[in-house]
Amino acid sequence: MTATCRRAVLGLLLLAGVASAQPPAADFERALEDFRATLEKLVEADTTNPPGNEARAVAIVAARLAAEGIPHEVTEFAPGRQNVVARLAGDGSEKPLLLLAHLDVVGAEGQPWTSPPHRVTERDGFLVGRGVSDDLGMALVELESVILLRRSAAKLRRDVILALTGDEESGGAGIRWLLEHRPETVAAELALNEGGGVRLDERGQVRSVELQAAEKTYQDFALVARGSTGHSSVPLADNAIYRLARALERLGRHSFPVRLLPVTREYFRARAAVESGALADALRAAASSPAAIAAPALEVLEANPRLAATLRTTCVATTLGGGTRVNALPAEARANVNCRILPDENPADVARELARAIADPGLAIEPLESFGFGPPSALDGQGPRAVREVAAAAWPGAPVVPLLALGATDSRFLRARGIAAYGLNPIAMTESEARRAHGIDERIPLASLRPAIEFFHGLVLALAGAR
Ligand SMILES: [Zn+2]
Repeated sequence: MTATCRRAVLGLLLLAGVASAQPPAADFERALEDFRATLEKLVEADTTNPPGNEARAVAIVAARLAAEGIPHEVTEFAPGRQNVVARLAGDGSEKPLLLLAHLDVVGAEGQPWTSPPHRVTERDGFLVGRGVSDDLGMALVELESVILLRRSAAKLRRDVILALTGDEESGGAGIRWLLEHRPETVAAELALNEGGGVRLDERGQVRSVELQAAEKTYQDFALVARGSTGHSSVPLADNAIYRLARALERLGRHSFPVRLLPVTREYFRARAAVESGALADALRAAASSPAAIAAPALEVLEANPRLAATLRTTCVATTLGGGTRVNALPAEARANVNCRILPDENPADVARELARAIADPGLAIEPLESFGFGPPSALDGQGPRAVREVAAAAWPGAPVVPLLALGATDSRFLRARGIAAYGLNPIAMTESEARRAHGIDERIPLASLRPAIEFFHGLVLALAGAR
């Protein structure tokens, strides 16, 4: 061995010594194995809501957190129903980042699954099981990210909070309990949650990254008509069923005003880039129209029911009933009207507009239970910026598309308290796979799991890592 060689070997040994003194690099292969093993347990825990039984899932997550020495708190919001909240401490130079996901799942009873829903089955390159895409997979991507930060002793400029909660699927009692009874444990500047997603095209390439920044508000109203009852052999003019029918007829012809929110404008602009023909033209025209959308473009957009629903508040009759006997005049007739309200509008204003449209002061319009609502989150700022940067590196060329969700997530409760919440499930899947959530043979692509963990870990580091 020459002297030069010896120096080189010594240099390598020194380098190795330096390397071993540093925290280990993120071990994504181990994270992926842990993800799969824990997902199997969570699916088998069967947190079908109702009744929920989220305590079973919380026990599994808490054991993993305890094994990694991550401080966490388990709280009970109803018998057998728990949340778990963990925290990695940052240096406090910025306010916390909250990672939110829910541990309850939608029931699979009555659905003809091709494998047992509450067991993870690997088939055709997918993991199949109730909850794998909504929302247990997301919950575990978040858990593995936090564990990777812990294992690599990452220095953080803000606390990273992991909150895995119950009851998202029927009212959000878990996160609501935390916000009411332990607000300091989930207080954050920004939050990542379900809602948006990484979309694959049919060839399996990432087409776009949908970032949910706002959601419509859910509100039911009861329309109640009352009339004189009596023997049906003597009809009377104030028949409750006819009165309600007239109201519904007027409601069916009524359209709420078109209002393009900034999030919808950006969505249309991005969607235009991946559409073609008349639809692309209409999307582009609408996105750039300063005020009212021109009639021809509006007509094209309104022909697509999903796009039409993003343009305005909608209210639609969903249930109907009246009368008690076939030979008696009905004392009462009632319909449920389900409204999906643009997030910057107020349910009380919608009730007033319903009254104007129905134009019958004798008919009662009663708001039913409120499930909460919050304003849109900002489309600029550090959250979306970090998503764009990390997504551009992970999936070059795939645009980040802001989204107004037509349905609801727990993000509304965070937004209502001033937390900028963004929805993005990083497990890439096609549109049709995403639609299996709540349905038959819910599944996630195996090939999407490691990229999801790597992307999300990168995103959390971009948002919370020490500069
Ligand atoms: Zn969900």
